[in-house]
Amino acid sequence: MANTKKAVKTAPKTQKVAKAKEVKKPVAAAPKTKIENKTQFSKKVLFIAGEAVPFIKTGGLADVAGALPKALCEKGIDARVMLPLYLGIPQEFKNNMQYLGNCYVQVSWRSQYCGVFMYNYQGVIYYFLDNEYYFKRHGLYGHYDDGERFAFFSKAVLEVLKIIDFKPDIIHANDWHTALTPVFLDCFYRGDEYCKNIQTVFTIHNIEFQGQYGEGIIGDVLGLNYDQSKLVRYKDCANYMKGGIESAARVTTVSPSYANEILDPFYGYGMQDILRQRKFKLSGIINGIDEEKNNPKTDKSLFVNYDINSLENKKFNKVGLQRLLGLPENENVPMIGMVGRLTHQKGIDLVTAVMDKILNMDVQVVVLGTGDWKYENILKDMQSRYPGKLRAIINFSADMASKIYGASDMFLMPSKFEPCGLSQMIAMRYASVPIVRLTGGLKDTVQAYNHVDGTGDGFTFATYNASDMLNAIERAVGLYRDYKDDWAKVVHNGMKKDFSWKTIADQYIELYKQI
Ligand code: ADP
Repeated sequence: MANTKKAVKTAPKTQKVAKAKEVKKPVAAAPKTKIENKTQFSKKVLFIAGEAVPFIKTGGLADVAGALPKALCEKGIDARVMLPLYLGIPQEFKNNMQYLGNCYVQVSWRSQYCGVFMYNYQGVIYYFLDNEYYFKRHGLYGHYDDGERFAFFSKAVLEVLKIIDFKPDIIHANDWHTALTPVFLDCFYRGDEYCKNIQTVFTIHNIEFQGQYGEGIIGDVLGLNYDQSKLVRYKDCANYMKGGIESAARVTTVSPSYANEILDPFYGYGMQDILRQRKFKLSGIINGIDEEKNNPKTDKSLFVNYDINSLENKKFNKVGLQRLLGLPENENVPMIGMVGRLTHQKGIDLVTAVMDKILNMDVQVVVLGTGDWKYENILKDMQSRYPGKLRAIINFSADMASKIYGASDMFLMPSKFEPCGLSQMIAMRYASVPIVRLTGGLKDTVQAYNHVDGTGDGFTFATYNASDMLNAIERAVGLYRDYKDDWAKVVHNGMKKDFSWKTIADQYIELYKQI
């Protein structure tokens, strides 16, 4: 990060957004989504995030940012979304964005250009903030100056409100990338008539990533004075997430269980003490999934579509994937799928520790993910040792993810911690029975199968321990092999579960009403 005041960075040119045309009056039309069960609550919500589908995605945050505002709009709330204009956003979207104007944002002593574009996607208005210096790069996160990039974005959000002619009642910030917006609002914008009544919600999607930087960033980039710096200063660092927790009117996380867990040092990643002090404003609301996008009846990536009434067609997806991946074609062999980041969070240690034992069973395992090279290499090595049983696809591919959800009979997710987890819900919808560790959102969404009364939709284990996980896999494989009727029951129970955003959006509306 530049620490010299001489080199003021030049204002970058606007990213190439073909056909983008300037409009005299910023368009701020109310969204035109189909409104179901219109709520009495008529406030305006600006949802700010580091990623959102369908524009750009690295994980579950993008799914939430793509689905929750849409669900809010469908309930009659004027919810809009703001994102950085990344290089990686597909050109077809950029071609149809509308240019609304530009301004300069003070990032401490820097004056940085910010262009504003708008795109209406399925009735939801998305705004994109453009600065080539910060965002015309490959990848979303992991750059040496992420602290400056997202401080810029978090401040620009407030600076462009007049350009977009949208005065939100609530700004809903997400994760450390946008955690500074509530801080900047309180420190710099409360005196502005336009901003003085804005309330803020901050949602923690994963507390492991807090946006921690050297203390120098507080003055040099955030431009906070000594008193203001207390909001973000934590354990001799600048901690963006702490700023969000301190400044937002309400703090939420993405499942009730995780909201409890993060008060404990094992899950809190150092933030537990702050959260205990702020427990009065902390709550957990489980995520949903986009049931239109994640639908085996319409998913174009599947070899054959199916639903709860045509489950016999699911096997064609297993055979199709086996053929595609060069695995022995056999519709009866239980297939265990995994889709997710290959990091310590997702319990890959447990899987690799007992992979030999798993593969000694009559099963096939298909893993899709990217992450730590250590896990990528172990999995590739294991694949070469078990060519007829294991496929490790080191890639990020929505198409392959769908194929695995569609083909697999079981979905393994032995997470060490899991704020919410979407994959287990998607798996259930695709008739792939989840095998999970009871933590965070996994605990709140998967119920262990009880063969006595036929309730439950998955297989679970509690302790973070490879033998316990193996035991849960063995129980699942045993039921699949020997008790077909019970297996059909557990599959049906999962498919029938309601994970729609419709119900969950009501909980957010309730929260917005309270502030
Ligand atoms: P997290 O947000 O911790 O990464 P979640 O389970 O909440 O995990 O969400 C992960 C989302 O990303 C799911 O929609 C999952 O299907 C998708 N996903 C994860 N890894 C991959 C991958 N390698 N290729 C395609 N989709 C992936």
